[in-house]
Amino acid sequence: MAVEASADPALADRLSAVREGIAVASRAAGRGEDATTLIVVTKFHPAALVRALAGLGVRDVGENRHQEAQAKAEELAGLGLRWHFVGQLQTKKARQAARYAAAIHSIDRERLVDALALGPEEAPGRVIDAFLQINLTDDPGRGGVAPEGIEALAERVLQAPGLRLRGVMAVAPLEEPPAAAFARLAGYSDRVRALDPAADRISAGMTHDYAEAIAAGATHLRIGSAITGKRPEPR
Ligand SMILES: *Cc1c(COP(=O)(O)O)cnc(C)c1O
Repeated sequence: MAVEASADPALADRLSAVREGIAVASRAAGRGEDATTLIVVTKFHPAALVRALAGLGVRDVGENRHQEAQAKAEELAGLGLRWHFVGQLQTKKARQAARYAAAIHSIDRERLVDALALGPEEAPGRVIDAFLQINLTDDPGRGGVAPEGIEALAERVLQAPGLRLRGVMAVAPLEEPPAAAFARLAGYSDRVRALDPAADRISAGMTHDYAEAIAAGATHLRIGSAITGKRPEPR
C-alpha cells in the first residue's frame, strides 16, 4: 500500500502547533476559538501536500496564482476543499477563477468585479465570497484598493450577481508594527459594514503576525509556511 503523504508527522505537528497558537491568541483576545477560519496557504507546494492537509482535517486552502490553483482544484476535486484565491487576479482570468474559487480575497478594482460577476445562467446558485483587498501602504504598487476607493468598490460588489460581499482583506506592511496596520484595517472594516452589516469579515494574519491579527478582530487567517514548511521556489 502506498504510504500517504498525510503520514508526514512534521506536517501534522506544525498544523497542531499553529492551531494551538490560534487558540492561545484567541483566548488572550477574549475571543472564542471558533471566531476564526484557518486558511492554509499552499502556494508553490504540490497537490500531494494539499491532499495530506485535507487528511488532517483542513477544509480551507489558499492559493495566489490562477493556473496553479486551477490545476490543484481540478486534481483534488472530491476532497470537499474550499479554495480561497488570495493573489493578484488578472481580469482576463477572473471568469476561470470564479469556477473553482469559493472565495476571492484580492478584489481590488471595479473592472475585476465586473469580470467576476457570474450570470445566473452561467453558474446557477453559485455565490463567491468577496473580500476587498485594502492597501495599507502609501505605495500604489502594492496590492489592494486605496482606502478612499473602498466605498465605490464595495457598492460595485453589492450590485454584482454571483458575488457576496464578505468584508476586507489586507497584508500587513513590513515597515510598521502589524498591530498598527491591523487597527487601520479594523476601521476600514467598519466603513464596509456601514454599507452592509453582513460584510463583517476580516481576512488578515499570516505566519508572523496572526496573533496580532486575531487581537485586531481577524476572522480569516491566511497561514502558509508555519504549517507547510518552507515554500519551494515558484516554477
Ligand atoms: C503567501 C501568502 C500568505 C501566507 O504567507 P505565510 O507568511 O507563509 O504565512 C498569506 N496571504 C497572502 C496574500 C499570501 O500571498
